[in-house]
Amino acid sequence: MTEQSVVTTEKAKPVLPDAQIVKSVTHYTDHLFSFRLSRPQSLRFRSGEFVMIGLMGDPDEKTGKQRPLLRAYSIASPSWDEELEFYSIKVQDGPLTSKLQNIKVGDEVIVRPKPVGTLVLDALLPAKRMYFIATGTGIAPFASLMRDPDLYERYDEVIMCHTCREVAELKYGADLIASLATDPLIGEMVGDKLKYYPTTTREESPKMGRITTLMKDGTLAADLGLPPLNPETDRLMVCGSMGLNTDIKEICEAAGLTEGSNSAPAEFVVEKAFVG
Ligand SMILES: Cc1cc2nc3c(=O)[nH]c(=O)nc-3n(C[C@H](O)[C@H](O)[C@H](O)COP(=O)(O)OP(=O)(O)OC[C@H]3O[C@@H](n4cnc5c(N)ncnc54)[C@H](O)[C@@H]3O)c2cc1C
Repeated sequence: MTEQSVVTTEKAKPVLPDAQIVKSVTHYTDHLFSFRLSRPQSLRFRSGEFVMIGLMGDPDEKTGKQRPLLRAYSIASPSWDEELEFYSIKVQDGPLTSKLQNIKVGDEVIVRPKPVGTLVLDALLPAKRMYFIATGTGIAPFASLMRDPDLYERYDEVIMCHTCREVAELKYGADLIASLATDPLIGEMVGDKLKYYPTTTREESPKMGRITTLMKDGTLAADLGLPPLNPETDRLMVCGSMGLNTDIKEICEAAGLTEGSNSAPAEFVVEKAFVG
C-alpha cells in the first residue's frame, strides 16, 4: 500500500516554537511511512546525523499544560536539500508514532535544531569501499548519505545492504536507490559506484537471510564479487537493532577494523536505529 499526499499548500509559517510544516507524507506499509518538512534556513547538519523531533503531547490532567513529546530521528534527506525528510516506524501504542503517523500536509512537527551522530563521513578514514548496513528504519541515515555527492567523491564503491522482514518494507530504500540513477544533481556521480543488496528474513524474496549470516558465510562477497573485509580498503557504517550492531561490530573487529568516532576517525561506525 503506497498512498501519497503531495505538496499542495502555499508555504505557511509554523506557530509552535521550533516547528516545521509538513510538505508531504507517504505511507509504505501499516508500520512504515516517510514525510518531508520545511527546513529552517539556520539548520545546518552533516548527512547521516539525527535530531530530536516530535509533536505536542496531550494536556497534563492536573495543570492542562502541554509538553513536547520528542524522539531521536535520523534526517533521511541530504545536507543540501531544501526540505527535511524522515522515515518512520509506526509503533502501535508508541507515545509519539501513534500520533505522528496521522500527520497531514500543512501540520506542524517540532524539529529541535541540534543535529548529532556518528554516522558521518568525517568519522571514517579515507578508503576505497564503503559498506552501509541497515535493518528496518536504520536505512534513514543512509538515505541521506546516498544522496550526498561527498560520498562518491570519497569512495570508489558503495554497498548498501538493507534487511527487512518483508518485501514491502524494502520499498522506501528501493525507490530511492532507483531514483538516483536519473537524479539531475548526483546521477552522474553515482554512476555504477552504488550497489544495492536487499534481503528479507521472513517473506520469500530473491535474496533471503540476515546480513550477518550472509557476511559470515561469504554469500555477500560471492554475490557482489567482493574481497574479504580489509582495514586498508574497507569502511562500514551500521544502523540497526542492538543485536545487529553488536554482531557487525564483532565481524569488523575480527577482520582487524577499528571503531571510529567524530573525534577519532577510524574504520567503522555504529549507531542504534532505536532504543529497545
Ligand atoms: C539515534 C536514533 C535515531 C533514530 N532514528 C529513527 C528514524 O530515523 N526513524 C524511526 O522510525 N525511528 C528512529 N528512532 C527511534 C525513535 O526515536 C522512536 O523510538 C520511534 O519513533 C518510536 O517512538 P514512540 O514514542 O512511538 O515509541 P517508543 O516508546 O520510542 O518505542 C517503543 C518501542 O518500539 C520499538 N521501536 C521504536 N522505534 C523503532 C524503530 N525505528 N524500528 C523498530 N522498532 C522500533 C522499540 O522496541 C521501542 O522500545 C531513532 C532512535 C535513535 C536512538
